[in-house]
Parts: sequence; structure tokens; C-alpha cells
Amino acid sequence: MKIFLSSDMEGTAGVVDWAQCRPGQPEYEHYRGLLQAEVNAAIEGARAAGARQFLVNDSHSTMANLRPAELAGNARYLSGRHKPLYMMQGLDSSFDAVFFVSYHGSMSGFPATLSHTYNPAAISEVRLNGVVAGESGINALVALGHGVPVMLVTGDETTARELRPFCPGAQEAVVKSSVSRFSADSLHPHDAREVIRDAARRAVESLTGGAPLPAIELPATLTVRMRNPDLAEMATWVQGVRQDPSDPVTVVITDEDPVRLYRTFVTVVLLTRGIAE
Ligand SMILES: [Zn+2]
Repeated sequence: MKIFLSSDMEGTAGVVDWAQCRPGQPEYEHYRGLLQAEVNAAIEGARAAGARQFLVNDSHSTMANLRPAELAGNARYLSGRHKPLYMMQGLDSSFDAVFFVSYHGSMSGFPATLSHTYNPAAISEVRLNGVVAGESGINALVALGHGVPVMLVTGDETTARELRPFCPGAQEAVVKSSVSRFSADSLHPHDAREVIRDAARRAVESLTGGAPLPAIELPATLTVRMRNPDLAEMATWVQGVRQDPSDPVTVVITDEDPVRLYRTFVTVVLLTRGIAE
């Protein structure tokens, strides 16, 4: 049994501020340790149910937040920047399940600690086939493209709720309850790890009955509301992206290939980073 684990950081129990999850900030060293322990809890839970191979794709900030030698389960570690498939780099059809660990709510989700959808300075809302999607829902496109079910999400309540329409079979490990964008009521880190370990074990156990792929109808449409019309116009420089004629801040991308759809979206994210404030 082989697990692909995409790790972010904002969904870790106790994390409520950008300074806690930005490399170089004094508090970061402490909070990266809490993230590492949650990633390991997910691996340990999956191991308890028989999973033996793990790839952790570090997907937060500079994407080098974990200490490779301290990863549980002899996990392989895919880290560093400029990955063509970004938060989903490394996934292929040889995996049995996808885990999303320490994920967070979408930019328009509420309440959602440190909410954003890829880039808070450029994107105010994303809908996938008409339903508000966070990074989890968008990333599920890649899982669908490779035929791998998404079986676990960890983070706050909003994160769990936002994945549900796309991956109703995923186990949810809720480790905090957001109060606002910069406050949350978190479980003690030890309890959070316990919740994650249990959910990860159930996630792997439930694979035996045949788990459903993400419930995303193809061709799929991403409707991306940018923060201003300049950003939307710039997004249309990417092939396949069109501006909504009735709403100049919104762009629409439709594709029957879910991985290509994701790549187009990521290209928009990277391109508009240049002029986002
Ligand atoms: Zn992040």
C-alpha cells in the first residue's frame, strides 16, 4: 500500500498567524515541529493499517519545512520550489491513496484560519463546477487524473467541509475550530496527533472496500475570481483562460483533462504573482 501525502502548514493545531509559518521568523522553528509531528501521525496511522510506502510532497512556502531524517515510515521526501505540479508533484497512478495534511480553508471560506486559495493577494474565490473549492478541491483534480482516491484531510472544520462535495469518502481529522482568519480554538498537539492517527488508519482500512475517486464531473470548469480586473486580464495570457464578459474580475477555465486543468490554473497563479499586491 502506497500513500501520497501533500503537506501544507496553516492547518496545524495551534497555528493562527503567518509569522508562525514563515521560514526565517523566530516562531517558525517551533511550529514547523508541530507540523512535522502531524505529518508523522498521518504516516503512523496509515502504517498501523498496513501501508508501507510513503511520499511526502512538502507544499508550503519554500516547500522545505520538514526534516527528512525525522519523517516516520522511512517516507521519501519531495521538497523544494518550482515543481511543475506544485502541491501534487510526485503523484502517479502507482499510489493507492492521497492524504492532505495541515490544509486550510479557501479564501472565501469562513471562518477559516489563514484562509487563502493559492495566492491571497491575487485570488478571492475559486469555484470548481460551480462549488466553492479550496486548495484541497482544486488539488483533487490531479488525484482524479491519476485515478487515485483522496482518503484523508486534516485541518480546521472549514477545510473538512470544503473538501466534502468533491471527496465525500475522505476521512476528516479536524484539529481546530477557526474563530476568525487569525484565531482558532485548537486541540492540544498531542490530541491533534491522536485524531490524525485514527483518521489515517481508518482512511487506509476503508481502501479495502474500493474507494471512490473524486466526484468531479468532466469536463470540469474552474471559475476564478481575481482581486482586480488587471489580474484577470493577465490571466487570459495563458492559453485556455477566458475572461467572463459579464464580470471583468472573473476568469473561466474548462478542460476535459483534469491534470491539464490544474496545470493551467497553476500557471495563472504563478503568472499573476508578478503584479499581485
Ligand atoms: Zn501553506
